[in-house]
Amino acid sequence: VRARVMQVEHSPDVTYEDIGGLDEQMTEVRETVEMPLKHPEMFEEVGIQPPSGVLLYGPPGTGKTMLAKAVANQTDASFIKMAGSELVHKFIGEGAKLVRDLFEVARDNEPAVIFIDEIDAIASKRTDSKTSGDAEVQRTMMQLLSEMDGFDERGEIRIIAATNRFDMLDPAILRPGRFDRLIEVPKPNATGRELIFQIHTRNMNVADDVNFEELAELATDASGADIKAICTEAGMFAIRDDRTEIYMGDFIDAWEKINIEDDDTGDSLA
Ligand code: ATP
Repeated sequence: VRARVMQVEHSPDVTYEDIGGLDEQMTEVRETVEMPLKHPEMFEEVGIQPPSGVLLYGPPGTGKTMLAKAVANQTDASFIKMAGSELVHKFIGEGAKLVRDLFEVARDNEPAVIFIDEIDAIASKRTDSKTSGDAEVQRTMMQLLSEMDGFDERGEIRIIAATNRFDMLDPAILRPGRFDRLIEVPKPNATGRELIFQIHTRNMNVADDVNFEELAELATDASGADIKAICTEAGMFAIRDDRTEIYMGDFIDAWEKINIEDDDTGDSLA
């Protein structure tokens, strides 16, 4: 069970250069996660404790996982990922044990960044606590809080959680000593979108007529993940046309295609 829900990567290959439009968020993550791992003595000398846990919140596909991976890369740490939904929905009755295992794996792989995606699945404001499903979720969350309360602040393990549903969170997890540093990761603005287009086309054979500024203006509501999809699709259009060079028209067709597909599924891009 453990192997199936926990994903362990040693120094993942995402770097800060792969992330576009999140400079402020990057700075905050570096101060709160990277500094305590790289220079714990600084905190000791200054006489403060680094934040226990960092919570990244914002819409899907905006780079939250990337940020956590980039910190792990920068600090040569293991990256241990677990999804809140898997903790409670996939292996009923195992949640609390899996949380214990998660911290044990982290201790065995120090330095380590623990990334808990979809934290809302185990830390939602409860509506009806009478059902057994909720009791299980509650136990899982209590285990997480007790692991966080119990570990050495200056140790070599940092915790980052992420959610798309900030409004749903149980305030208990946001108390001091828990996820007490909140970082909003929004959808990119026009400049951010342009940067993300540039990042995802770095290895693409892009023609001279391609204008990223214009594309950024066009894809107003796109997340980073949407932009990545547009770039891949643009490449597919070129291949379908038996070309190896990608034109502006391919990007526009790709944007239209992805826009329409997203509308069908009722997703964000509109
Ligand atoms: P979710 O909430 O759905 O888990 P997330 O915010 O964790 O999403 P990521 O998994 O980090 O999103 O992003 C998915 C993919 O989208 C990335 O692998 C990357 O290719 C692209 N992407 C997202 N945001 C950015 C960004 N700011 N810069 C560059 N690429 C991005």
